[in-house]
Amino acid sequence: MKVNRVEIFDIHCPKRDVWNPVFVRIHTDEGISGVGEAGLAYDLGHSAAANMIKEIAEAMLIGHDPFNTELLWQRMLRESFWGLGGGPVIYAAMSAIDTALWDIKAKALNVPVYQLLGGKVNSQLRTYASQLQFDWDQQVNRLFDPEDYGKAAEKAIQQGYDAVKVDPIMYDAKGNCFFERTKLFSQPDMRLFRARLQAIRDAVGDDVDIIFECHSLPSVSTAIQLGELVEEFRCLYFEEPVHYLSADLHQKVADKVNVPIAGGERLYNRWGIKPYMQDLSIDVLQPDVGLCGGFTETKKVCDYADAFDVKIQLHVCGGPVATAASLQLETALSNFLIHEHHTYAIKEWNRELCVQDLQPVNGFFQVSDAPGLGIELNDEIVYRSPHLVVGK
Ligand code: MG
Repeated sequence: MKVNRVEIFDIHCPKRDVWNPVFVRIHTDEGISGVGEAGLAYDLGHSAAANMIKEIAEAMLIGHDPFNTELLWQRMLRESFWGLGGGPVIYAAMSAIDTALWDIKAKALNVPVYQLLGGKVNSQLRTYASQLQFDWDQQVNRLFDPEDYGKAAEKAIQQGYDAVKVDPIMYDAKGNCFFERTKLFSQPDMRLFRARLQAIRDAVGDDVDIIFECHSLPSVSTAIQLGELVEEFRCLYFEEPVHYLSADLHQKVADKVNVPIAGGERLYNRWGIKPYMQDLSIDVLQPDVGLCGGFTETKKVCDYADAFDVKIQLHVCGGPVATAASLQLETALSNFLIHEHHTYAIKEWNRELCVQDLQPVNGFFQVSDAPGLGIELNDEIVYRSPHLVVGK
């Protein structure tokens, strides 16, 4: 079997600006195709990932046997020049391609991908409703009034979730978004964040888990300040309290805050996560299959994390292909903790991108048992967006 054509879709959603999942579909001379997704659907970088996929496809994919996933991964790592340095563009591209190759391989063998990753460990995947500050509804709404945080949480709970995630520090009292979160918070700021968490706790009761998200914006000092709230509300974990530009910052937060620390969505490959495992500063690792290196690398990363008693919550914020890939891997992980279902994943403009609509039932996901990833692009929709073709 040989790869003979590669299609790359840089999705533009008319109903949602700044949402650009990048899909790749790899075709073979035997008529089997596979899909993958680059983990850059949000914020900046999608068109770079699409073009990086194109360049890799031209340089080393056409004519190659798609079963040789390990060899191809090594070639992308070494022959792209940039693979040996890390970073979102090259790793998003490598991840998308690798995911699609596993889809082809599993389809050719007539098994779901998880069977090739070790088989089914988890048949029910506990799932949480993610990013309540954007509401839990068909529309994205920026919430700033504490009362609305309670209402959003209530909507998720009514759908059967028993865990939610919120970034309570994203908006100020008027709904302005601040990226400067490194200076010490004022008392009114802290009261506002506290009121939002209290509204959620009041809405969901004592038995529901709350995950506290920071998006890497605080400094060590502000993260430690916030730690007081994270402890008070007995949050399940404290996500991305600081950034990754200095590998030892997480450790200081972990030393000061008595709640598990989560992170890893901006880390790539086994070498990238190594310092956080070795200093035991991350308790819940959140690699993204579309950024960490696809199935080939993310499975290795998750198993390596297990050697440090670290649990896995894959980061999932993308189109339906990212969800499908994550479910396949999570099904096969012994250290799986919980699945992330982003508020974007329940929106029509995201759900229509694929033929299958992957949604949890009563707060639990089950993986597809169809051969491959169990997901196909909805051609009627995806061909409306810019797309590139390599090969014929
Ligand atoms: Mg996050």
